[in-house]
Amino acid sequence: MFGRGIHLFRLFGFSVKLDWTWSILAILVTWSLAVGLFPALQPGLTPESYWIMGAFGALGLFFSIVFHEFFHALVARMNGIKMRGITLFLFGGVAEMAEEPPSPRSEFLMTIAGPISSFFLGGFFLILNLLLGAVLAGPVSAVIGYLGVINIILAVFNMIPAFPLDGGRILRSALWAWKGDVRWATKIASNFGSAFGILLIVLGVLSFLRGNLIGGLWWFVIGIFVRNAAASTYQHVLLREVLQGEPVRNFMRPNPVVVSPHLTLRELVEDYVYRHHFKMFPVVEGGLLLGRIDVEQLKDIPREEWDMRLVRDHLEPMSEDNTLHPNTDAMKAFTKMQHLGTRLLVAEGNAVLGILAMRDMIRVFALKMELEEGAPARPEDRDREDQRAA
Ligand SMILES: [Zn+2]
Repeated sequence: MFGRGIHLFRLFGFSVKLDWTWSILAILVTWSLAVGLFPALQPGLTPESYWIMGAFGALGLFFSIVFHEFFHALVARMNGIKMRGITLFLFGGVAEMAEEPPSPRSEFLMTIAGPISSFFLGGFFLILNLLLGAVLAGPVSAVIGYLGVINIILAVFNMIPAFPLDGGRILRSALWAWKGDVRWATKIASNFGSAFGILLIVLGVLSFLRGNLIGGLWWFVIGIFVRNAAASTYQHVLLREVLQGEPVRNFMRPNPVVVSPHLTLRELVEDYVYRHHFKMFPVVEGGLLLGRIDVEQLKDIPREEWDMRLVRDHLEPMSEDNTLHPNTDAMKAFTKMQHLGTRLLVAEGNAVLGILAMRDMIRVFALKMELEEGAPARPEDRDREDQRAA
């Protein structure tokens, strides 16, 4: 979801990244604390003091969210789930998994860890404030008190049973454990998520109309995010059902049109790109795959140089990142594509076998859904699943 975040630091082996949208959240939080909450809690201070308090409040919120996500990531790793890292973005944070939890138990444990950690962190700040409140300066105490309350709110809000919130994941893991059907469990949890998203959108609009412009807009945008995330999670589960366990050779386009490294770029464009309408060609010489050439790359080369330049000088050599083995699991390939581009070569040794395009995989998926949607997971499917596992 977030490929281009800025890497901040590593925490027990997890990379903590910042998506640029986080800065919007930081500004909103600082602003609303500096002109809203803190002047109301501690009247009579200078505006500068309120802005400094607001900045510390936002910094504390940053710390609190990393703390929450860190516990998700840690418990996930203890349960054998590969983690990509922690990313902070517009709506808080996310502990990104490289794969979905393998069992309801692991999903339950890794999820509940987040709200519990926030609950304890909130309690810690509140108790600290209670014990030291008398000796601390007013502004310091106000910031600590805010962090105590905000962490409790974070814990409670996240427990709302609406996917993709933690509560929605917990609901899904419970339903999944109950009936053993992850598709059905996800469907229910994401329906709750969609409904909750719509509720937030409506509340946002009402709040906006009542004059709370930024607050209303904020809930509206969060509502849209929750709704989309709920729907896409369900689609992801369906996608996994279709792709997992299938080799990529079942989805690739076999016998692709290949080009010679000695073609000029103009020949490539006129004889291949315009004729076949493909965006990528494997470059092959004497039956050996050398690499690939993408139409995208040509855009940066001035047209008048197309006659002088050869495919050979612009090809992208074969590597782990752009080539798949035909027996690679299709779900793994799909995940790889989300990070490395929507077209990959399928090759065995130095022989090119086909091209795998994300579009083709999605087309097969859509077709399957059209034929099967609404139908409950059939028992035959599960038998096949068991044979595969055996
Ligand atoms: Zn969480």
